[in-house]
Amino acid sequence: MATKMEAAKALEGLLGDEQGNEIGSASQNAKNRDNVIKNWSLGPTKASVDPQANGEYWRKMADKWDIDEAQARRQLCANCEYFNNTPAMQEQMEAIPLDKFDMDGGGRGYCTKFDFICHNLRTCQAWEEKPFNETEDEGDYAED
Ligand code: SF4
Repeated sequence: MATKMEAAKALEGLLGDEQGNEIGSASQNAKNRDNVIKNWSLGPTKASVDPQANGEYWRKMADKWDIDEAQARRQLCANCEYFNNTPAMQEQMEAIPLDKFDMDGGGRGYCTKFDFICHNLRTCQAWEEKPFNETEDEGDYAED
C-alpha cells in the first residue's frame, strides 16, 4: 500500500498536462517562481498595499523600467496582460496548496508567461499593461 507521501507525489504528477490543466505540479510551480524571482525580479517578497512599503524594491523596478517610483507601484501583476485570474483558473490553482507567497500577495492569478501562480500585489520585469475594454452598458439595470 502506498504511503501518504507516495500518494501525494502520484497526485502531484497528475496535476499537469495529463489532466488537461494548464497548471503543473506544486514543485514545478515553485521552480518556475524561483526562476522569475532570480531572473525577472519578481517581488516584493513581502507584498503590501502600504504605499510606503518596500521602497527599495520599487525604486529598483522604477530604475529597470525607467519610470518614477509612483508609476512603478501601479504596475502590478493584477494589471499585467499575462495575469489570468478568471474563476476557472482560480479553480485550477486550488490544486496547488497555499504557501508563504500567498499570505501577503493579495490574491492569486496565474502568470501565463512564466507558468506559475503569481499575486495581485507583486510584479516582475516582464510586466506588460493589460488592455481594458469597457463593456457598453446594455441598459440591463435601467429602471422602467
Ligand atoms: S509577467 Fe506579468 S503576471 Fe507574470 S509575474 Fe510578471 S508581472 Fe506578474
